[in-house]
Amino acid sequence: MSGEHRHAEPDKLTKNQALVFHALEGSEKPLGAYDLLDALRGDGLRSPLQIYRALDKLIGMGLVHRLESLNAFVLCIHCGEEVRPDNAAFTICTACGRVTELNDSSLARLLAQLAEATGFALEQSTVELRGLCAACQAA
Ligand SMILES: [Zn+2]
Ligand SMILES: [Zn+2]
Repeated sequence: MSGEHRHAEPDKLTKNQALVFHALEGSEKPLGAYDLLDALRGDGLRSPLQIYRALDKLIGMGLVHRLESLNAFVLCIHCGEEVRPDNAAFTICTACGRVTELNDSSLARLLAQLAEATGFALEQSTVELRGLCAACQAA
């Protein structure tokens, strides 16, 4: 496999996990499981189950985020870093589909406090902000 990754490739990925990781890395937009299956069919991935298993592990490792409202997956912008935030927030442009990951430690703290105040044990949070990106507002 050739180098030049925007993200440091994490160690200890299985072959399928690495294939999914690199497919997401090479994509401008979030990909659904079936987009990934189409992209990786030539690499020997044949069933949605293989894709979902790889995605589950990558999400568990904090390398990939699931965007519920799009039913799609994106690489974490922090996936090359040693310590990754528990919280991720995304802006999702409803016109062009552009997705940008935002991270703000005060948002993470606020969500943790809100959860704690109700006795809720927060494990992870993904906040999705839908609207128009700057380019689409100008258009
Ligand atoms: Zn992230
Ligand atoms: Zn847009």
